[in-house]
Amino acid sequence: MRYSRLFGRTSKTVPSDADSRNARLLVQAGYVDQLMSGVYTYLPLGLRSLNRIKQVVREEMEAIGGQEILMPALTPREPWATTGRWNDPGPEVMFRLKGRGDKDLVLGWTHEEIVTPLVKRFIRSYKDLPVAVYQVQDKFRNEPRAKSGLLRGREFSMKDLYSFHRNQEDLDEFYERAKTAYLNVYRRCGLDAIVTEASGGAFSEYSHEYQVLTENGEDIIYYCPKCQYAQNREISGYRAGDACPKCGEAMGEGKAIEVGNIFRLGTRFTDPFGVTYSDETGKQQPVVMGCYGIGPSRVMGAIVEIHSDDRGIIWPKQVAPYPVQLVLVPSKDGEEAVRLRETAEKLASGLAAVGLEPLYDDREDVRAGEKFADADLIGLPVRLVVSPKSLGAGGVEWKLRSGSDTEIVPIDAVPDRVSDFYNLT
Ligand SMILES: [Zn+2]
Repeated sequence: MRYSRLFGRTSKTVPSDADSRNARLLVQAGYVDQLMSGVYTYLPLGLRSLNRIKQVVREEMEAIGGQEILMPALTPREPWATTGRWNDPGPEVMFRLKGRGDKDLVLGWTHEEIVTPLVKRFIRSYKDLPVAVYQVQDKFRNEPRAKSGLLRGREFSMKDLYSFHRNQEDLDEFYERAKTAYLNVYRRCGLDAIVTEASGGAFSEYSHEYQVLTENGEDIIYYCPKCQYAQNREISGYRAGDACPKCGEAMGEGKAIEVGNIFRLGTRFTDPFGVTYSDETGKQQPVVMGCYGIGPSRVMGAIVEIHSDDRGIIWPKQVAPYPVQLVLVPSKDGEEAVRLRETAEKLASGLAAVGLEPLYDDREDVRAGEKFADADLIGLPVRLVVSPKSLGAGGVEWKLRSGSDTEIVPIDAVPDRVSDFYNLT
């Protein structure tokens, strides 16, 4: 992708309405555009990163047997009334609107009320269980204070998976697999998530949140640095320095961002909709349920909060919008300028040919220093520079965004080098 043609640009101006580090950097680097508080447009770079995160999530959900569906965001009042959630949690969170004929409608902020009657239509006997379905969809929550950029939006991307089981043991077994799958998602997205006990388990003592430690976090957790046992402060009787109940190590206290949560719902939703199955003896039994949420847009915000410095974003490999930023240093010497451009073009097409299309800063009218500042702000993991100096030294300058060392790599060796860096070979 030629930067000169890319829709969306970097900006030197710090956005006046940016309410957090992730919003400031993502807006300045040309990833997103704020429409209003808590609502963002994803520009091409931002959409590529978001889609990469969604892809990681999809792969891990498929790996535990999740099947993707897509439910509507526009929903009728009736199922919410059935479970009692039309009035509770109330108007604070739900976007309610009126359809034709004065019909009450809700914009989906979660989907238990939609998925439960849906699954009911396909379950007859124990042979139809377990079922695990998920979707990746925008959700709507009328947050009282939409702030923190992508961390707390009024419209935001969500992966919600729902599992249905014949008994508690089967739910527990799936729940443990989901726990591991979630940790895989975060690890692949460059986040070191801590499984944290939290309140809100309607059917069990705790639900589990995935928390990432950072100074900019909204939550406070107590965690064991040795065995990673953790609890959210909202439910916790612990204090910093208390002995870990699992291993005895002194517990630490830290600010954290919640990047996902999982719940054992039991029959909280299957009871009101009358979801049952017939067991081996023909007797009707209640179906028990779990739900599992990850917000890809929130994960993207958390990544930027954690993987960034004064100069910009530092994308983890798996979720960067492009693998490489290729910088052509312009020259005033006509002959040299042609040689530099030819080299950069050849390199760009060579990388694209092996599936590593770079973001190619081909601009002629921009100084080298400004291009380097843009590359740091955009934050792709690898920066390659084609300059008079690099050609004089026999190649291309290679630098990682996460480090400061540079080295010269022969031009023909670059595609292999980038493949190796991304473990593609
Ligand atoms: Zn411990």
